[in-house]
Amino acid sequence: MKKIALTAGIKDNQLFTNRALVDVIAKNGFLPIVLAPVSLKAMPEPLTDFDGLILSDGDDITPIFYNEEPLPELKVTDPHRDQYEINLIKASHEAGLPILGIGRGMQILNVAFGGSLFQDIYGQNSGAGIQHVQASNLSLPAHHVNVTPESQLAQVIGNHPYVNSLHHQAIKKVADNFNIVATAPDGIIESIESSDGLMQGIQWRPEELSSDESQAKIFTSFFNKIK
Ligand code: MN
Repeated sequence: MKKIALTAGIKDNQLFTNRALVDVIAKNGFLPIVLAPVSLKAMPEPLTDFDGLILSDGDDITPIFYNEEPLPELKVTDPHRDQYEINLIKASHEAGLPILGIGRGMQILNVAFGGSLFQDIYGQNSGAGIQHVQASNLSLPAHHVNVTPESQLAQVIGNHPYVNSLHHQAIKKVADNFNIVATAPDGIIESIESSDGLMQGIQWRPEELSSDESQAKIFTSFFNKIK
């Protein structure tokens, strides 16, 4: 059985990740392997004994990883998780594995390759004028995104999907080996793809939009890349 690794965070000494992502992996016939981030002191060489990597959602990313001091609006971060995931992303990429970043997962993917983030969308970007921290349940869509027609994503989900949104951080500078392939109506970056086609980031949470069948295709197209 092929294995998909899924990242997790630690809060109050408990491991947490997105159950809907675990279910999506299993439903598509793969074994979900949940990876616990280890402390910086105990940091081992990251192993890539799996066939694909999904980076889950979670807390803010520590701005030291993109050479910024923390702004007052920054929320909880875990530098141990951030460093572990950056190491894991680099090792997985070197091993030629497909990588899908969801929510925070897209942001850490961007940071791992030298990109930066808005620590707080609304405090740092006067153009951001729509709700990215939706008040409604995540099973409901909140805003549209405009997808680049020639992208992989457009083939999967079309040019103008209606998506959910639960993020107060967003990509500021895109890492060199990625292209922006979707933006919200206020210009906030909602999806990136690597030039080699193996890495994709999605700012929204497709696993929670179970009433929209097209969202599930984001995962099936990712799984189709696994050899
Ligand atoms: Mn959004």
